[in-house]
Amino acid sequence: MTVAAPRIRMLIDGQFVESATSHWQDVINPATQDVLAQVPFATTGEVDAAVAAAKEAFKTWRKTPIGTRARIFLKYQQLIRENMSELAHILTAEQGKTLPDAEGDVFRGLEVVEHAAAIGNLQLGELANNVANGVDTYSIMQPLGVCAGITPFNFPAMIPLWMFPMAIATGNTFILKPSEQDPMVTMRLVELALEAGIPKGVLNVVHGGEEVVNAICDHPDIKAVSFVGSTRVGTHVYNRASLAGKRVQCMMGAKNHAVVLPDANKEQTLNAMVGAAFGAAGQRCMAASTLVLVGEARGWVQDLVEKAKTLKVSGGTVAGTDVGPVISCSARERVEGLIASGVEQGAKLVLDGRKPQVDGFEKGNFVGPTIFAGVTTDMRIYQEEIFGPVLVILEAETLDEAIAMVNSNPNGNGTALFTQSGAAARRFQEDIDVGQVGINVPIPVPVPLFSFTGSRASKLGDLGPYGKQVVLFYTQTKTVTARWFDDETLSHGVNTTISL
Ligand code: NAD
Repeated sequence: MTVAAPRIRMLIDGQFVESATSHWQDVINPATQDVLAQVPFATTGEVDAAVAAAKEAFKTWRKTPIGTRARIFLKYQQLIRENMSELAHILTAEQGKTLPDAEGDVFRGLEVVEHAAAIGNLQLGELANNVANGVDTYSIMQPLGVCAGITPFNFPAMIPLWMFPMAIATGNTFILKPSEQDPMVTMRLVELALEAGIPKGVLNVVHGGEEVVNAICDHPDIKAVSFVGSTRVGTHVYNRASLAGKRVQCMMGAKNHAVVLPDANKEQTLNAMVGAAFGAAGQRCMAASTLVLVGEARGWVQDLVEKAKTLKVSGGTVAGTDVGPVISCSARERVEGLIASGVEQGAKLVLDGRKPQVDGFEKGNFVGPTIFAGVTTDMRIYQEEIFGPVLVILEAETLDEAIAMVNSNPNGNGTALFTQSGAAARRFQEDIDVGQVGINVPIPVPVPLFSFTGSRASKLGDLGPYGKQVVLFYTQTKTVTARWFDDETLSHGVNTTISL
């Protein structure tokens, strides 16, 4: 007898409820093809119910004292720590990345929760005393109302945690729409958030795809939308939600270049590159997927290939695994198709990771580390985000040529320079048009004291998804100019000019 896969519930008004939809999709373990659960594609009525609950909860949540809000996130970070291993196992089962990397995924989100616990120091207005006789002006940062978040499959713990903790800590209520490909660890995090004390209606979850996302973009009671995902979908969300009058921030696709100068420490650089190109099977928005070798560093290709060959491709639960499966069969086919296009367009396939033998995981969506040399900017493998364990190598004569190449690519998510020259590093950081810049750091994702950002096709909207910028994103500044009459001599009668 086969046991039916569990049905993932939504969270509406503090209750975990089953959707009334007839549209369900399997959540599949990418290493085994086991069906782990079924996720609903919520109806528009269910989206409306979630928004109505959030709108009602906002009436009281917006007035909840800062200390009360902060203490929930203090408890929440503790609960996440206590459940780290369970969270990582759920994440690996549905997403595929290795267990240590899954813990990293949770941990990078946990850092944002810690930041949310410090909201008392972050949501501060300003005051100017005596802007005119007996007059003070001060600003207050008030929550917006119901906010929504739409998240991608590749960081199912970190990215939801970029969003709802900061939105809720600043006094908003929230609708989360997790990736339909791996919503299970997100739901476990949501359960822990309720256990930490988030009141009913303050956090709500609806599942689904295009239809639910469009309903969120259009809903008149949602004030702001945070999106992380591909450039195609993010651009659609930005346009549609902006048109409906919402604040929108979209963090989107990438083609991250690492530039290597010949004076770089060779061993450290090659190790960093292999980790950053192939870790998480290349499915990181900050993966270093494009390598630009400058000058004499052009001779380093074979050493890089030898290092990449040592990586172990296997299930994420197997100790010592470096590269797990990609998320789905269709993702594997897409990556293999792009590799074939690279060969057809004349790039040199110096390491072919297609169809690796993975004992014990014969049905998994595996692609091993793959490296192309001799790549040119007109090839599809350069122009498209591959989002798999494929590294493309280009060459440049000089640092200036490499900077021009990076700036000519439409994407501006992350980049890194490897060098021992401070002067070269400074020129790079000044002239490069990319959001996250690493100097001898291959994946420079900022800690929450700073904000994640992006440039050109990698980001729409002006404020980042966490750090100081997101406090501005999730609040409305109100400026109060006040005069209190305690001295009759201040009164000068009627004044029809604009002065205070
Ligand atoms: P995706 O754009 O396919 O999906 C993101 C979200 O949009 C999901 O919740 C999905 O259900 C929804 N969606 C999908 N198709 C839709 C449609 N037609 N209309 C409306 N909504 C739709 O992205 P993904 O494949 O889950 O994630 C990978 C992408 O995300 C990569 O491009 C990666 O670079 C990017 N990403 C960017 C960042 C960043 O901070 N810049 C971080 C992580 C991932």
